[in-house]
Amino acid sequence: MRLGLFGGTFNPIHFGHLRAAIEVREAFNLDKLLLIPSANPPHKIAGQVADAEDRLEMVRLAVEGEPFLEASEIELARPGPSYTIQTLRHFHERFGPESSIHFIVGQDAFSEITTWKSYKELFGTAHFIVMTRPGSKLGSIEDFIHTNISEAYQYDLTSNGYGHPEWCKIFCLDITHLDISASEIRERIRQGRSIRFLIPHAVEDFVVKKELYR
Ligand code: ATP
Repeated sequence: MRLGLFGGTFNPIHFGHLRAAIEVREAFNLDKLLLIPSANPPHKIAGQVADAEDRLEMVRLAVEGEPFLEASEIELARPGPSYTIQTLRHFHERFGPESSIHFIVGQDAFSEITTWKSYKELFGTAHFIVMTRPGSKLGSIEDFIHTNISEAYQYDLTSNGYGHPEWCKIFCLDITHLDISASEIRERIRQGRSIRFLIPHAVEDFVVKKELYR
């Protein structure tokens, strides 16, 4: 089983996230890619974040009919703040060592990884796929990995990734970067402007019905 885990606030989920998920799924031939909304995101300011149940529902609506994409409620089922390390341990235990778990993260989020709980342990638990923008400098990722994660990571051209003698791999993948952000969508809603073609239609209907982000 080749599993992809894509965590985020998804406040709300938008076409940037969805396009990225599909491209990663295809490039790494994943059997399933789970989109995992965080329950109480420790890095985000409370008040601007929609209820976790609503964010999960928006993810469900967004992936409806997509064969390889699925919404996961794992972080909502757990009390307290959401820490990625707990989520990775959960899937590691559930699927066992023969499965291959890939944690998917944007380059912006990856560059803040040192602030995440038990961040070094993450690299012993799952492979990382860092979504880069076409043309972004790999050199800076390499410096970052060597300075903050481990000097033993070595670049391998064939896989466009970094291998480690004991830990999991860190891959880089250039994706079509749609310049869409959830914060921009929330701002547009606050201003009463259109969000059409930034998020799936079903998600837009849900936002309107629940009067989110007003
Ligand atoms: P906000 O604007 O509220 O900070 P966001 O749109 O960046 O939100 P998050 O839920 O914080 O969304 O992001 C979850 C993951 O998706 C992160 O790894 C982030 O790097 C990635 N991501 C966010 N926007 C895009 C995009 N347009 N294209 C590809 N990946 C994205």
